[in-house]
Amino acid sequence: MTAVAQVVGVDLGGTKTRFVLTCEDLTVRAGLTRPTPALDGADAMLTTVVEGVRELVRARGPVAAVGIGTAGVVDHAGGRIVAASDSFSGWAGTNVVDVLRAELDVPVVLENDVNAFLYGERSGGAARGLRDVMGISLGTGVGGAIVLDGQLFRGRLGGAGEIGHVPGFGDEMCTCGQRGHLETLASGRAIARRYRQHTGVDVDAADVAGLARGGDPAATRTLAEAGQGVAQAALMVAGILDVHDVVVGGGVAQAWDVLGVHVRSALAQAEPVGGATITIRRGELGGDAAAIGAAALARCRFALPVTSGRAG
Ligand SMILES: [Zn+2]
Repeated sequence: MTAVAQVVGVDLGGTKTRFVLTCEDLTVRAGLTRPTPALDGADAMLTTVVEGVRELVRARGPVAAVGIGTAGVVDHAGGRIVAASDSFSGWAGTNVVDVLRAELDVPVVLENDVNAFLYGERSGGAARGLRDVMGISLGTGVGGAIVLDGQLFRGRLGGAGEIGHVPGFGDEMCTCGQRGHLETLASGRAIARRYRQHTGVDVDAADVAGLARGGDPAATRTLAEAGQGVAQAALMVAGILDVHDVVVGGGVAQAWDVLGVHVRSALAQAEPVGGATITIRRGELGGDAAAIGAAALARCRFALPVTSGRAG
């Protein structure tokens, strides 16, 4: 029997780590989720990854490679974490690829998690087959990524597409210490905070979406402000890069039914200078997008087979 080249994709997030075991068409054959010991240091996080991969291998057989996506600035070529937020203790400077390769004895690729999300959607989700596309991840924070000519565009330091932290989106204080970033309007935390500002009521972003579905005016206003910010980001990217397709992912995208309408109405009032229409859609891979994308990147990097189906 010919062995199928299985690849594990890992999405190491601030609170949980998601593992998917994928086959050649990027179909997920098995998955598991573990808490991320983000405050316990790099060794604890790497051990979590090693144990998760080994568990999938025990259950499903050997894998040909591992791809891992994680938050922060990533040295993709060197396999190292360049910078990470305070929510990941001791993570900056860690050479993830060297450690995992030695422990697991397979090739490993490291990528920023939002880049992995977009690559996943481009390989087998909402951006399948698009040559140029922008990804915006609306989660606890706001991240961005760009594919140009079918390849991730990382920029010189790996931060290309980080639309969450450029100025021009109001004047509220951002988690990064500066003011007026998209993250202050459209992250999960920002939606909860702004609803509280409007009403004095303490709820989370999912509750705000539920309230908007029920016609709550303050919830609708909060999501309209977030949607206008997302539309403005799409217009910036369209104007600078001539990229007119946008995929939105992250936990806040679950509110797309009550958020997307505001994005579209803001776009309808401000067509890009070039005249091309911006197409903005929700991701299709949900919470598995970054893990699937990390697996797809490993297939690409190590020239493993990809068959049609999900892969575009
Ligand atoms: Zn910021």
